[in-house]
Amino acid sequence: MSRVAYVNGTYVPMNEAYVHIDDRGYQFADGVYEGISVRRGKLVDLEPHLDRLWRSMQELRIAPPMERAPMRFILREVVRRNRINDGFIYMQITRGVARRDHPFPAHSVPAMVVTVKRMDFDASMKRAAEQGVAASSQPDIRWGRCDVKSTSLLPNILAKQAAREAGAFEAVLVDKDGYVTEGSSTNIWMVTKDGKLVTRSTDDNILPGITRQSVKKVAESLQMSIEERKFSLEEVKDAAEMFLTSSTSCATPIVVLDGEKIGDGTPGPVAKRLIEAYQAYMDAGA
Ligand code: PMP
Repeated sequence: MSRVAYVNGTYVPMNEAYVHIDDRGYQFADGVYEGISVRRGKLVDLEPHLDRLWRSMQELRIAPPMERAPMRFILREVVRRNRINDGFIYMQITRGVARRDHPFPAHSVPAMVVTVKRMDFDASMKRAAEQGVAASSQPDIRWGRCDVKSTSLLPNILAKQAAREAGAFEAVLVDKDGYVTEGSSTNIWMVTKDGKLVTRSTDDNILPGITRQSVKKVAESLQMSIEERKFSLEEVKDAAEMFLTSSTSCATPIVVLDGEKIGDGTPGPVAKRLIEAYQAYMDAGA
C-alpha cells in the first residue's frame, strides 16, 4: 500500500505530495513543526503537542491554518489511511506561499502538511533497555529561541551528522560555557551518583520536550527525586547514568559519551525503570 500524505486540504499519495517552490518553509524555513508518536493507533500526548504547536505559531506570528478540532481529525485520518498501529506523525505549518522577500508577506495562507511513518516501539524500547546508545558532544551553535519548534534545523542536522561520523547515535549539544543544553533532537538527562534525576530547566536554549514532561511525571509517580538545573559536560561525564528522551526514542540510555563510559557503560537501573514505566504510560493511551 502506498503512503498517503495530507497536503493543504487534500489526502494524496506520497509521490504526488508537493508544495510550491515559493513556500516560505522551503525558501526561509519560515515554519514550525511537531512530531507525535502513535502507539496502538492512539496519538501519544496529542494535547500537549498541540499546545506547543500553537505556542510556536504564536511566537512566529503564523496564523493557525485551522482550529484544533479539524486538525485532530486530519492527524487521525492520516494515521487511519496509512493503517498505522505504531508510528510517528510529522506535521509542518509554514507561513505559506509568497513572492520571495524577507519581511512577512501582507497576505499569505499558511500551509500544512502531515505525513506518518511506521515505527516498532517494542523493538526500539527493548534495544534501548538492553544496549543503550553512544553520544558525542558537539558545540551548540543554534539561535537564541530553541524553545520555538522551528523547521530551521541546519545546526541540529550538522551536529547529528558529526555525531554519526564519530560513531555515535546522538549529539549532546554544549554551550559556550560548557553546559549541556540538549541533544540535536532529544532532551538530555543524568542520574547523579547520589541517585537524583537531573535535566535542564526549560528556557530559551532548549525545546520543552513533551516526552521530557511525561517522563518527569512518570518519575514523580515513582517517587524519584528530580532537579531541574543546568549541568556541565564535565559533570555528566561523571554521572551514574545518562539518558535521552524524545517522541521517537522514548527514554534511551546513553552508555558512552565521547568514547568514555557513563557509569559502568551499560543501561542503568533508573533509566531501565523509566523505560518500563514510560512504556506503560504510552500503552495506557495517555
Ligand atoms: N529537543 C529537540 C531539539 C528536538 O528536536 C526534539 C524532538 N523534536 C526534542 C528535544 C524532544 O521533544 P519531544 O519529546 O517533544 O519529541
